[in-house]
Amino acid sequence: MAAFDLPRSILEETFSHFRGCGGGRRECQALWLSPWDTPQTITKVVHPKHTAHAAAFVLDDRWLNDFWMSLARENLGIRFQVHTHPGAAFHSPTDDAFPIIHTVGFLSLVIPNFGLGRVGFEDAYLTEIQEDGCWRRISIGERIALI
Ligand SMILES: [Zn+2]
Repeated sequence: MAAFDLPRSILEETFSHFRGCGGGRRECQALWLSPWDTPQTITKVVHPKHTAHAAAFVLDDRWLNDFWMSLARENLGIRFQVHTHPGAAFHSPTDDAFPIIHTVGFLSLVIPNFGLGRVGFEDAYLTEIQEDGCWRRISIGERIALI
């Protein structure tokens, strides 16, 4: 699979959600979307309605329901889920068990230190769902091209 084109502005907006919502104390999540017509180009970041504490977050069910309908209406799909961790970036057993969607090729990016560091992928962790349904770590450069 080719790398997704990710506009720098979307990456910056993602970090600003993490900092504003997480405040350096709580985890936060964002979703990167692209149109089904041009799936390889990320065009939108969404900050889901959620609750969170230091080491976990839970999406709001009603928000999620409306979100699925808006995706269908706007012909968009979720390509990446991106979330923060308090310290090091990795995929926890909970992260493995509960991705927002579970399809082959779905990508999950974890940003360390509540996203307080420089905007970019330093010490970030990317993992992808394989054909067998398991996650496998993959290099960020293989799946993300900043544009
Ligand atoms: Zn948040």
